[in-house]
Amino acid sequence: MKILIVGAGLYGATVARLLSDAGHDVLVIERRDHTAGNCYSYNLHGIEVHRYGPHIFHTSIDQVWRFANRYASFLGYHHSVKSKLGDRLYSIPINLNTMKDLWGITTPDEAKAKLNEARVHIPEPANMEEWALSKIGEQLYELFVKPYTIKQWNKHPRELPPFILKRLPVRFSFNDSYFDDKWTGIPEHGYTAWIDAMLEAAPVELETDFFDRREEYERRFDKIFYTGRLDRFFDYRYGPLEYRSLRFEVVTHDIEDYQGASIINYPELKYEFTRKIEHKHLTKARSDKTVVTTEYPQNWTPEKTPFYPVNTDENNRIGAKYKALAERISSKYIFGGRLADYKYYDMDKTISAALNQIRRLDGSLLPRELKVPESAPM
Ligand code: FAD
Ligand code: UDP
Repeated sequence: MKILIVGAGLYGATVARLLSDAGHDVLVIERRDHTAGNCYSYNLHGIEVHRYGPHIFHTSIDQVWRFANRYASFLGYHHSVKSKLGDRLYSIPINLNTMKDLWGITTPDEAKAKLNEARVHIPEPANMEEWALSKIGEQLYELFVKPYTIKQWNKHPRELPPFILKRLPVRFSFNDSYFDDKWTGIPEHGYTAWIDAMLEAAPVELETDFFDRREEYERRFDKIFYTGRLDRFFDYRYGPLEYRSLRFEVVTHDIEDYQGASIINYPELKYEFTRKIEHKHLTKARSDKTVVTTEYPQNWTPEKTPFYPVNTDENNRIGAKYKALAERISSKYIFGGRLADYKYYDMDKTISAALNQIRRLDGSLLPRELKVPESAPM
């Protein structure tokens, strides 16, 4: 079968690899001048720099971890983040280190008692603010969450769904890991090399926009996997979907170490940016220089990259209308990935969604390894 994949990001690359291995004739097209989508990384002064924000692979899905490791060796990495308030650095996500430094608390029992006292009783939190207040109380919310979230999303946490914050654990131990997953790691030679190893199985045409030759592609291919924006695909019939964008300021410093950690968050509103990333700490790279990216959230406009779907109820309603359209159009098309699903997927969920999508296809498209009737969790 002749298959076109629109987008050489992680979703497109996963699908390209599975379908090429199953014997299909696959072509990948990508609008940008590079592969790997938002996971793209490149080498600068011997340091792997993440162009579109820091990427740390973490998962608890066995099948996804196995798939990921087929295309790269993963360096072990413990992800812990600091949050800067005034001149002091606190551990984030909230854990016993944070409470020790803020309140002098040193045991799990003291921490539980303190948070029980601080929590606001809200039986069914309906938005991010209510969820935060019911989980960590007002002081921690006001210091670490509210201002950061307002900068990140340009919305009050009352307007946002709880799931965006539920990504972060709250712990009563000194475990300061950002994730609770079974595995965390960084591809040894960078994300681009990892995704390129998946894409090795299929030709990729860069700087090629699907919409420039849509009719020709429809004639040439039996199936088209589309990983771009859904609203654009349907000519904005129900209006544009809302996204959040980012601006990255990259500076090389002629010193070995700038901040002593891969990520420091800056929740305070006096800073326009949300975090600083010092890339060398992600891979323990040795270099007499260091590269630091400062991340500024921005409103999205059509010339900017749509990094985050803004999953408010209203936007999800519009997204659902587009998805219903996508279900109804020709069976030639299959939609997937962070943009076409309009979902805040981490990398593991992106791979998992691709694996599940392939599994749902008719038998002739299925690679042998996916013919088992198992469904990976989402
Ligand atoms: P994308 O990477 O967006 O790829 C889609 C591709 O399609 C793009 O390259 C685009 O140019 C191309 N395309 C779109 N339209 C067209 C068209 N018309 N014609 C041709 N090509 C087109 N996940 C984690 O697990 N851990 C992290 O630490 C992490 N950090 C992140 C930090 C930031 C700042 C961001 C934005 C995301 C982060 N993620 C993280 C999520 C991760 O980036 C995504 O899960 C992943 O990139 C999704 O892959 P995708 O293929 O769906 O989308
Ligand atoms: N968040 C926060 N304070 C922080 C870090 C995160 O309030 O110091 C909130 C914020 O709303 C953010 C969400 O938690 O959008 C998820 O954070 P994460 O670091 O997972 O976001 P990402 O890396 O995807 O930008």
